[in-house]
Amino acid sequence: MSLSGRFCLRCGKPETLENPLIEGLCLECFLKERSLVRLPDRVALTRCPACGSIYLKGTWLHFSGGVRDALQHYLRALKKPVVSPNLTEIDVEVLGIHKGEAELLVKSCFKGRSAEQRVVIRYEVINRLCPKCLGVKVKDYNAVLQVRFAGSPSRELTNEVVRTLTSDREISGSITDYEELQEGIDVKFSIASVARQAAMHLRNSLGGYLTESWKLHGLVKGKRHSKLFVVLRIPVFTSGDLIDSRGVLLEVLNVKEERVTVRRLSDGKLLNLSIKSLVKDGFRQLSRDDYVTTECLVTEALGREAVMVCEDGTTAKWETARPLKAGDRVSALTYKDVRYIKIR
Ligand SMILES: [Zn+2]
Ligand SMILES: [Zn+2]
Repeated sequence: MSLSGRFCLRCGKPETLENPLIEGLCLECFLKERSLVRLPDRVALTRCPACGSIYLKGTWLHFSGGVRDALQHYLRALKKPVVSPNLTEIDVEVLGIHKGEAELLVKSCFKGRSAEQRVVIRYEVINRLCPKCLGVKVKDYNAVLQVRFAGSPSRELTNEVVRTLTSDREISGSITDYEELQEGIDVKFSIASVARQAAMHLRNSLGGYLTESWKLHGLVKGKRHSKLFVVLRIPVFTSGDLIDSRGVLLEVLNVKEERVTVRRLSDGKLLNLSIKSLVKDGFRQLSRDDYVTTECLVTEALGREAVMVCEDGTTAKWETARPLKAGDRVSALTYKDVRYIKIR
């Protein structure tokens, strides 16, 4: 029996003391259709990569937790437009963050009943040194670490650089400036040896090759003063990527520190190359639009020559990297009008 004579507009359940209506709906239907709180679909969190402080409502707030905690703090501090005055004790918990998406648990209380809702929003972390970290240190730096990417880096990769730099206390304590530029990331250090250590640290986790140079930076008290420049070039490719190095098509198998193992697709040969030489030769990373692939069935084979029928309708005889037999299945890849047979 409904006390008020009102019913849920969706499921028709009558309103009772235990089941009060909110905006004309029972709580279950409300949670299915509406949001407990209006949150932006996308938030940008400005955070200091050196000390973890976050920028909130026009000021910097000292904060020592990681990105998840910082995001939670940020969301809790956001002024959330009230959906219904009957919803009280609103709280937001960040359950997890992954690749720019945050899963939230929004909790509230409605006339004595607790209500929960899971929401996914997109977030972005903008790295900016806070005035405290900048002010104290910006005046003197003795080394610059320049992280450069061969190819365009994803936000994930840039964040990984920041994570690696800030995970070490000695490294993060020596950072005097951090700047994301079109061409990469510049990080200034007060201690030259720490800059070198940071570069090695990054190279060990992300691969790449290092170069070092000292540049004269004026006279200090009559003495020549130089600054150390360390450049780390990080390749933006991983296992399975295809690259064109001077017209030679290579499949990346493994990247380790300064070296990369590739398979030359023209003859299936494995090569171990230095990333330095690859960068020097000006390689190009292929995107999915650069080539087409098709699956083929070997119908006849003699030595390294095999006749194949492919799903794209072609039938032809190809020379392959190693002998095949009738019945073998291979994939073929066409790039710049040349067909390559991929054999594992
Ligand atoms: Zn209902
Ligand atoms: Zn800071």
